[in-house]
Amino acid sequence: MPDVYNWQLGRDMSYRFDAAYPDRQFAFVFNINRCLACQTCTMACKSTWTFSEGQEYMWWNNVETKPYGGYPQGWDVKLLTMLEQANPDGQAWDARSAGPGRPYGEYKGMTIFEAAQAKGGQDQAIGYLPTDQEWQAPNIHEDTATGPKGVPGAYGKGAELPVHTPWFFYLQRLCNHCSYPACVAACPRNAIYKRPEDGIVLIDQSRCRGYRKCVEQCPYKRPMYRATTRVSEKCVGCYPRVEGTDPLNDGLPMETRCMSVCPGKIRMQGLVQIDKKTGEWVEDPENPLYFMVKQAKVALPLYPQFGTQPNGYYIPPRWVPRDYLRQMFGPGVDEAIDAYLAPSRELLAVLQLFRATQRILFKFKIEKGPKVRDVVIGGKKWSMYNDTVTGYDRAGNEVVRLSVLEPFHVRPKKYLNSI
Ligand code: SF4
Ligand code: SF4
Repeated sequence: MPDVYNWQLGRDMSYRFDAAYPDRQFAFVFNINRCLACQTCTMACKSTWTFSEGQEYMWWNNVETKPYGGYPQGWDVKLLTMLEQANPDGQAWDARSAGPGRPYGEYKGMTIFEAAQAKGGQDQAIGYLPTDQEWQAPNIHEDTATGPKGVPGAYGKGAELPVHTPWFFYLQRLCNHCSYPACVAACPRNAIYKRPEDGIVLIDQSRCRGYRKCVEQCPYKRPMYRATTRVSEKCVGCYPRVEGTDPLNDGLPMETRCMSVCPGKIRMQGLVQIDKKTGEWVEDPENPLYFMVKQAKVALPLYPQFGTQPNGYYIPPRWVPRDYLRQMFGPGVDEAIDAYLAPSRELLAVLQLFRATQRILFKFKIEKGPKVRDVVIGGKKWSMYNDTVTGYDRAGNEVVRLSVLEPFHVRPKKYLNSI
């Protein structure tokens, strides 16, 4: 199998195909700290793409409560257990070797592709087919907290930031439109492909024969089988909107349905520029996603150790035990939470851009404003400035302008009872 460079792992890894990269890559940042689990994203996706016969159990976007929830049930624990069985006690990171081209250091363990190779056989990646029962409940164990076991009343103790004794959090999930997709590698019909223009991963329905190898080998369990048509389906990245063909958006790229409806303002989508030779993100510090992932390092990939180089990034929840988060997001967790707790001036301004527009932002600029507050965070002085941030679409139009402090409006007396 060819070797490809996985920058999230800081090393080469084997993959079924030679490296081939898109011009731009569909990517997103989710701020877990702000999600209220309203499932508006879930329903926006469902009512757009999976409302037909045979799609009843399909939720291309779902929001699950961790640590116990999951759709399909137990998907991540099963994958982590399989990796551990393939490489006992070997799933470790060398975070000290972090540097250019390897922001989280080097992953020393096995990816799902390497574990399959070690096992022998035909499969490209280790995996499993969830049972019908595991697909049945998209929101099982909602709002169920974990805490110290067998200690009556302990749930109420020590519940202070930064880490809560009892805890849970919401994990928002959709296809990661991975750079090395396991679904693409798994398909014996070559029916799944990654689009060269935006990196969106699609299943060609006319080639698919319903073997469900993608369902089995995608570690995130995003492809789903439709019994009425006998082919598999998955998130299509709302490609007509990303292409700019939605009549609402003047031919310019627009965010997906799940991104654009989020009342918690936790979601931002982008199209990052990719170096066609190396697969690395082209340096673009004025792109909000590049800034958050590569520069501020506040957002991290979900289970990077699986090896698919997923393009969904998460700002980790600040109240959750760090070991759990490191298993889920890799060794960058402490740096990301520190960056979020006391954000730099630039990061605080960029965080205002979440859900300010449906148009995909390609660039931001910041105008400096006055200092408005001094506070102490984690024993250190932190100052807040009322900077103004502007966001620009692909054509360079300014589409959004926001200040850090929300403007305060007083309704004139003559309108007090106008509703
Ligand atoms: S719409 Fe936003 S806040 Fe609501 S569940 Fe989805 S991600 Fe969370
Ligand atoms: S998340 Fe799964 S379905 Fe989506 S691109 Fe990655 S491997 Fe394929």
